[in-house]
Amino acid sequence: MTGEQVYSLGSKDRPLQVAIVGSGPAGFYAADALLRQKDLTVQIDLYDRLPTPYGLVRFGVAPDHPKIKAVIRVYERIAASRHLRFFGNVKVGSNLSVQELRKHYDQIVYAVGCETDRRLGIPGEDLQGSHTATEFVAWYNSHPDYIERSFDLSHKCAAVVGVGNVAMDVTRILSKDQDELVHTDIAGYALEALRKGQVEEVVILARRGPKQAAFSLNEIKEIGSLKGVDLVVDPKEMELDEASKASGGKQGRQKVEYLTEKSKAGEGSQRRKVRLRFCVSPVEILGENGRVTAVKIEKNELYPDETGDIRSRGTGQYEVLPVGLVFRSIGYQGVPLPGVPFDEKRGVICNQEGRVTDSVSGQIVPNEYAVGWAKRGPTGLIGTNKSDSAATVEKMLEDIEGKSAKVDLEKRPEAVDRMLAGKKLQVVTFEDWKLLDQQEVEAGKRLGKLREKLLTVSAMLKVIEERQ
Ligand SMILES: Cc1cc2nc3c(=O)[nH]c(=O)nc-3n(C[C@H](O)[C@H](O)[C@H](O)COP(=O)(O)OP(=O)(O)OC[C@H]3O[C@@H](n4cnc5c(N)ncnc54)[C@H](O)[C@@H]3O)c2cc1C
Repeated sequence: MTGEQVYSLGSKDRPLQVAIVGSGPAGFYAADALLRQKDLTVQIDLYDRLPTPYGLVRFGVAPDHPKIKAVIRVYERIAASRHLRFFGNVKVGSNLSVQELRKHYDQIVYAVGCETDRRLGIPGEDLQGSHTATEFVAWYNSHPDYIERSFDLSHKCAAVVGVGNVAMDVTRILSKDQDELVHTDIAGYALEALRKGQVEEVVILARRGPKQAAFSLNEIKEIGSLKGVDLVVDPKEMELDEASKASGGKQGRQKVEYLTEKSKAGEGSQRRKVRLRFCVSPVEILGENGRVTAVKIEKNELYPDETGDIRSRGTGQYEVLPVGLVFRSIGYQGVPLPGVPFDEKRGVICNQEGRVTDSVSGQIVPNEYAVGWAKRGPTGLIGTNKSDSAATVEKMLEDIEGKSAKVDLEKRPEAVDRMLAGKKLQVVTFEDWKLLDQQEVEAGKRLGKLREKLLTVSAMLKVIEERQ
């Protein structure tokens, strides 16, 4: 082979070099979709800013839902491909620039998820005791960036704003009998704090009615059957307006049926309560001496907009709920990557069906793509990312169809190795991660837990060094 000769891009003589940034579900599914192409020779480098792969499967999915994490087996099989390398502990945007990626790869896929949260935009949001679901979830799941957070759980009453599945996770972890969490991979410090905590009542605040609630039937049923907890719903708030009666599919109907039954049971007799409030919006978080003491809510009414969607608007009737803690769970949002066009309004990378676009002109930025939550926002389950990543990979393949390229010494795995070595980073390979995995599972076994996660990046790097 000489440097002058051209070959078909993605052939054995000139493999396609792809960088995937982010090793959550979307990153792995994008890698899988590329590796499955019969007529494509591809070399993939999968980067993550953390030494650990799997994104929100490790740091989002609730510890008491271990079966969901079994999807990791699928990702392990993908990682076993000799055409894929994992580079953990490398943050694109700081350790490694997008310009460097452009130099060393034919195509770049951004799979960075949505790592921050939306704000309510109401007074009192930053009082002590007002937290985002993002923080709380990351804390109980031992995310290295959040282990130092503290939550004062000495209050009897907490409000959770939002009714998505994340809000259900937060409510469940706050309300569940801690003995049922002992064997999970929950952070040890979080379990201890929950045990010492006094929270007896969690009030969930839903902007719209039961028909529009985003939680799944299973999630709410799980809360309704928690040991020692009553799920309390006011029958008046279960009365549907005409537009809601006509709207929604089977799930919506089933959720209404289930909650109507629950509303008939009244207050119940258990010490702990989860109170589900519909058609209310927080308008202010109230406090004393800088700490949350209550949340002021406004009653909403529902109306169909011109497209038939059911929307809410305030009625001017207010109520004050005394609470010591507020968890805001109204959606995650992306963090801009330096050098990558970002849609501030939607909180995602600017893209057209996965092809990155310029934020001003809307023109396609060649060879750059987005998948997963970074592409479409924080919606959808783990499995949703599979078809979503496959759809972006189709665009990637369309874009190289019929293209030829010279052998480019910069676009080879060895050139990437040299570039990373020059940076003196402690890059974590997939084999290194397996050492961490082994350590965590062994530590968990000793404690009667599924896994005891390592808490800091430095502890992880130390374990790798020792075990090697
Ligand atoms: C609290 C919570 C609970 C959930 N529970 C469930 C559930 O029970 N079942 C279910 O099906 N779905 C669940 N989901 C949804 C599911 O987790 C998402 O659909 C999925 O994780 C999105 O995948 P992703 O790859 O786009 O993003 P992520 O999973 O967030 O992965 C993004 C990855 O990118 C990395 N990254 C970010 N920035 C950089 C950078 N600059 N450089 C390098 N790497 C970077 C991150 O470290 C991370 O590993 C839950 C979500 C949340 C928030």
